[in-house]
Amino acid sequence: MAALNFLCCHAAALNKTHLHCGKNDKSVVRKKVEELLLVTKKKKAAAPTLPHISLQNGNWVKLICGASFEDLVDVRNLSLVYTLAGVDCIDCAADGAVVNAANEGIDVARAILPIRRPWVMISVNDDEDLHFRKAEFDPDDCPIDCSRPCEKICPANAISLQGELGSFQPGVITERCYGCGRCLQVCPYDKIKATSYARDAAATSILLERDDVDALEIHTNGRQTDSFEELWNGLRESVKHLRLLAVSLPYIGDSTVSLMNKMHSILECDISCWNLWQLDGRPMSGDIGRGATRESIAFALRLASADDKPPGFLQLAGGTNAHTVEGLRKENLFQTRSICENLESSLVSSSNALIGGIAYGGYARKIVGRVLSRMESETGLVHIESSPEHLLMAITEALNLVGGVKSYTTSP
Ligand code: SF4
Ligand code: SF4
Repeated sequence: MAALNFLCCHAAALNKTHLHCGKNDKSVVRKKVEELLLVTKKKKAAAPTLPHISLQNGNWVKLICGASFEDLVDVRNLSLVYTLAGVDCIDCAADGAVVNAANEGIDVARAILPIRRPWVMISVNDDEDLHFRKAEFDPDDCPIDCSRPCEKICPANAISLQGELGSFQPGVITERCYGCGRCLQVCPYDKIKATSYARDAAATSILLERDDVDALEIHTNGRQTDSFEELWNGLRESVKHLRLLAVSLPYIGDSTVSLMNKMHSILECDISCWNLWQLDGRPMSGDIGRGATRESIAFALRLASADDKPPGFLQLAGGTNAHTVEGLRKENLFQTRSICENLESSLVSSSNALIGGIAYGGYARKIVGRVLSRMESETGLVHIESSPEHLLMAITEALNLVGGVKSYTTSP
């Protein structure tokens, strides 16, 4: 409860705080943060739980920056905001510069408020996977009278046909494209192609040796396990100090559990950390609406009732958004349990904790991304801590989402 108190106080203080933005006025940020700390201290609240305790409690929250999303400024700002909102893990592309950006965001957040550090996770793939692709097209090939639906539909602002987005060349801005595929579907002239890629195991191993990388996620499409085993053989020497190993998989029908067991048998000799199964219901659809979350909940229901599933926490992803918690509650799957009541049983068999938590991707990026875009257009600033007013707005959005799982709200 102490952790929840802390977050309640934190959120309430944020709501009551009215910030006046002074450009680069760091003293304003510091002052407001001191007020937050004072409120927190008065209530004798504690810091949020450690990430693995959140998994055991069933209230783990992961921010998915995107396995292919490499916009360093956005990754930094998202990591900063969601660290302050209390997420347990930040999942980012397996790229050194992106990992640096995520860690910088976390460090800046912790300099503002001494909150516990979320784990940093990097994501790789064993085969073709929607999360590991980029769209591309040649804007010179586009008919001049095209109404440019690709530009309008892109959730990542990754398409600019007239160079409106800063200094970017017209076309797809590769760093921002995370492969959702929506532009491919709307182009009336079939001009857009998607290029898949795989993260290199050797380069990933180097990243895994870093002190500031805590977790690895392997995305698999579930078609077969040969490529999964091959990737694992390339990584197994580097995973010794990891705190968490996650496998992200789609629902592949009745053979899902046997596939999970097969993958677990490949992994189990080498891992000494926590393990987690990411149930990828409907990849990259969380920002679409209420319906998008149904598939991840249906996936969770099937897995929760399977007796023969391998050990490991279960965590939802793919279509997760503001409606996911409500859906889990309706199905009696969402459980928030106090550490004292349930720690022991969770440790004995973590797989009995129905759902370890939720990962939010597109939806989490969208609600904070709106604030980031607004800040950029209103102030020209790029680092969110430089604009206290926008920082406050972004944290409030993030707290509303994270709070649904952590059982706190921003309402006083
Ligand atoms: S719509 Fe999706 S796939 Fe197309 S450019 Fe934007 S992020 Fe990439
Ligand atoms: S929708 Fe297709 S043809 Fe039209 S601008 Fe976009 S890529 Fe070009």
